[in-house]
Amino acid sequence: MSSLHSVTAWVRERRTVVAWSGALTLAGGALLLPATAAAQTVLPTTPGSSAFTSAAYDSATPAGAQQAALVQVAEPSPYRLPGSASSRSSQDAVTVADNLAPAPAPETPPAPEPAPAPTEAPAPVPAAPAWSAPTPGEPISNPYGKKNPSYAAGYHTGVDFAVSVGTPLLAVGDATVVSAGYDGAYGNEVVLRLSDGHFAEYAHLSSLSVHAGQTVTPGQQVGKAGTTGNSTGPHLHFEIRSANKYGAVIDPIAFLAARGVTDF
Ligand SMILES: [Zn+2]
Repeated sequence: MSSLHSVTAWVRERRTVVAWSGALTLAGGALLLPATAAAQTVLPTTPGSSAFTSAAYDSATPAGAQQAALVQVAEPSPYRLPGSASSRSSQDAVTVADNLAPAPAPETPPAPEPAPAPTEAPAPVPAAPAWSAPTPGEPISNPYGKKNPSYAAGYHTGVDFAVSVGTPLLAVGDATVVSAGYDGAYGNEVVLRLSDGHFAEYAHLSSLSVHAGQTVTPGQQVGKAGTTGNSTGPHLHFEIRSANKYGAVIDPIAFLAARGVTDF
């Protein structure tokens, strides 16, 4: 073994001895404190600093011969054990007596929970439309009231919408189904009694979606457009009646427009 290695090993061993002798000294002093602290003269220390006092401390003296010492450690200290060149602090090997340990930090109250974000008032649910077009957005192909001697009334008793076969036909308002079936010149027909007492009539349907006695809501499908009965091509013949009989009709477009329905 080279001399350099020997010196290094010696330094290491010495560091250990120094550290442990210091530790025993410190522990001994701490253990004595409950009985002797009142009688001892403790030099004032700078608050927040560390004081290490030991009478006639000598790292070369066996640990057992060390005089009891008072250790006050307020917080981790940069103090180096005497004679030690190591980076170990006295804090590393010290058990601090309870009466000298820094008071535990007061419990910090839990941070108040963040106030919940103000909840926006729920958007008002838009009221369901009270009325609907029978075929929303579809164009009128033959207006109501147009004189035509081929009709029994002498004029067109409803309004025609140019829709292809299968187009959904919708209830124009809250209603009860008066009838749903085949009716001669009208072909497959649905008649609704609207909540305001009027009747809505749908003619030439290819299929029926409701049955007599059923209640329907605005926009609910009552059937599909077709060309059954006295019809020359696919379309919806739509009437509004003041009574459930032929010819007791009013202008369906004016009726719907007065109720906010204009998409045709
Ligand atoms: Zn018609």
